[in-house]
Amino acid sequence: MEIITHPHPTLKYKSKPVVRINAELKVIVNEMFDLMYEAKGVGLAANQVNLPLRLFVSNPSGVKGEGEEFVFINPVISKGTGNEVADEGCLSLPGVYGPVNRSRAIHVEAFNLDGQVISVDMDDFMARVVQHETDHLDGVMFTDRMVEHSLQAIQDEIEEFEIEYRAKLADGLIPDEQAVHEELAEWEAKFCK
Ligand code: ZN
Repeated sequence: MEIITHPHPTLKYKSKPVVRINAELKVIVNEMFDLMYEAKGVGLAANQVNLPLRLFVSNPSGVKGEGEEFVFINPVISKGTGNEVADEGCLSLPGVYGPVNRSRAIHVEAFNLDGQVISVDMDDFMARVVQHETDHLDGVMFTDRMVEHSLQAIQDEIEEFEIEYRAKLADGLIPDEQAVHEELAEWEAKFCK
């Protein structure tokens, strides 16, 4: 398992609800936490490790053994209130940051790794993390939510990732979009049906 970067097609993919929480899924979630800590992130969505599953992991402290670990399976956000603009970054666009407008407070319903319902109100930083990660599950990157003039300021940095991706594709070093989608279908058959 590894973190994929823009413009990998799975980052544009709308993930499918998880219907099966089993030992294999728990292993996947543990690996996602390890990758997130290694990369010094505070959240990581399944799309970012090339899995088409509606789940993400988060620890707002970003440090293993500190703070609190959350697993959100099939999250649904409601009751967004207030608005706040703050800079965001993403492990799938390392080193790139830009301002994003988000709801300041939200309500979230999801399942945890024990299959229990989570129903919580969140605000500020954690609300932002949950909105950013839930966007990933819909194939939406934080850059998709940036206003045009902010996006222009980081366009060159984003393009560098695109140039590198296309070069790898041309050299046959990474699977093409069709191969990626076949792989995603296999994961869906395992956890979403
Ligand atoms: Zn992200």
